[in-house]
Amino acid sequence: MTEARNLLEWHQAKEKGAAAQRELDEWRAREEELAVRRKEAELKVKQIGTPAETDIDNQIALKLAQQELWLVDKDTERFMEERFEKEFALRESKHEWDVKAAEREAVLSREALELYYRIGENIPNPVVEVKRRSCMGCFLPLSVVKMEEWHKGKTLVTCDECGRILV
Ligand SMILES: [Zn+2]
Repeated sequence: MTEARNLLEWHQAKEKGAAAQRELDEWRAREEELAVRRKEAELKVKQIGTPAETDIDNQIALKLAQQELWLVDKDTERFMEERFEKEFALRESKHEWDVKAAEREAVLSREALELYYRIGENIPNPVVEVKRRSCMGCFLPLSVVKMEEWHKGKTLVTCDECGRILV
């Protein structure tokens, strides 16, 4: 595998691992939101207490608060089921991408990583493929000289237009 290809696979594995982590973080955030909602609903029911039968306003307020509590519990139940199904797979997938990223990174040269990070400071996706003689980062065609350099594949070649590493 060429270093450029390796760099791309490392980059992709790293991105996918990070995406899985973001999704896991979202699950956690949703769980916390539900817990907050439940606490608020519980508190409201408690605050209203047991209104007198003639106290219509508070009777209605109590019904609404109880309904909200019931809704939160339903939402939580649904959330837990969904999470149970998805979270495990998500963790597995994150682990696989992390392992793959670590394997790829281990065989990358320091120069390649430095170049990648330097380019990445200014533009997203610092390493892209070449398709139809064009850079898939900026979608502009490569010059003949650049194409030759890229074909030889001896060193890392960057796009003249956007500066990304070409695979
Ligand atoms: Zn480009």
